[in-house]
Amino acid sequence: MTSIDDTDRENVLTAVEELLPELQEFVGDLVAERSVLGDEAGAQAVVRDRLEALDLSVRELNADDVDGIRDHPEFSDTGHSYESRSNLVAERSGTGEGRSLVFNGHVDVVPENDREKWSFDPFSGAVEDGRILGRGASDMKGGVGAMIFALAALDRAGVTLQGDLAIETVIEEEAGGFGGSLATALAGPAAGGAYDAVVIPEPTDFDMWIANDGVSYFRVTVEGKSAHAARTDDGVNAAAKLYPIFQALSELHDERKTSVHDPLFEQWYDQTVSLNLGSIHAGEWPSSVPDEATLEARISHAPAETREHIHTVVEETVREAADDPWFDEHPPTVEWFGWRGSSAKISTDEPIIHAVQDVMGTMNGESQPKGFPGGIDSRFFVNYADTPAICFGPGAHNIHGTDEFLPVDELERITKAYALLAMEWCGYEEDE
Ligand SMILES: [Zn+2]
Repeated sequence: MTSIDDTDRENVLTAVEELLPELQEFVGDLVAERSVLGDEAGAQAVVRDRLEALDLSVRELNADDVDGIRDHPEFSDTGHSYESRSNLVAERSGTGEGRSLVFNGHVDVVPENDREKWSFDPFSGAVEDGRILGRGASDMKGGVGAMIFALAALDRAGVTLQGDLAIETVIEEEAGGFGGSLATALAGPAAGGAYDAVVIPEPTDFDMWIANDGVSYFRVTVEGKSAHAARTDDGVNAAAKLYPIFQALSELHDERKTSVHDPLFEQWYDQTVSLNLGSIHAGEWPSSVPDEATLEARISHAPAETREHIHTVVEETVREAADDPWFDEHPPTVEWFGWRGSSAKISTDEPIIHAVQDVMGTMNGESQPKGFPGGIDSRFFVNYADTPAICFGPGAHNIHGTDEFLPVDELERITKAYALLAMEWCGYEEDE
């Protein structure tokens, strides 16, 4: 059940349909900007123009202007300066009574990789056979277009929201979101305080991600002793010493996937957590005994676990696997490096979840709450801004792969859902 009047609902849905050609063009323009990490400015300029056309004043929120962000436990340096790389925040004040809502979308995309493997220009942005083509169409420039045009449709239908609505477009989500959504989450609304809910248009196929795993990277280094191959047994092969550690970590993955469970994740994935042994390196030359071996891996932890716990488990596993006398003098080291993200989870009773389900119900659809087995920007709002945040968006079509696209009918449907969600969540008044 929703609180939206039937006539108002029809007016807003009609407004979305009327705006659809313009929306497709906007998403196409956004896709045409190759906004990979570090190069988000062109896409942000396209967004800014559109927001200003909606009479919104656009605030630039740069990570360098957020006090203490570099000391924040969630921050990692991506190696790219924040100069000319601002997030955009546009706020539309409501009439004062309703709940506030943020739509937060990232404008960065992952690289296209080998262009030759694509069957169309990866930055085409063209619409063909009912699909918008190109990198980011689905993840998530379509969603960014939808959240902006949801507001345009409300304006067109003469609907004024009671609660405040903010639109944020952020950088570097694909690299971890540190100078992006972490910055906007820490900065909060211009007027201070906190928003009442955040919706992120990740391609969730109209379901909701309301939880995510935490992620850590680690590196195990094992020492050996170099020798000429003709005297192999004078050396100590570091790769051979690494092997039992590799085995033990592989077993840890098997053990955790059968013992760590969260039903939100296992509705659609086989397991809640994983440990991926991502890269192994040892030795430089066939005729030398390798004197060092390294293993780099990614481990995830469920919302019910802590990062400290998972780090201890890994370190103990490595220590126990290193049980031959060589290791007494040459213990393996474990370093935690690079990207790391916290886990997050909101209650399935959160009103924003019910609001999405109510709205999808009126569109003959449904939306299931799920857990995502990796880092998503919603964690910043949940963990550091005391704000319930969900990901909710259209389908994922070849995202991060070749031939990414977004069906126009999904773009239309998610734009309608966002417009109705804003009315349902914030409350509204009709203009006289
Ligand atoms: Zn994304």
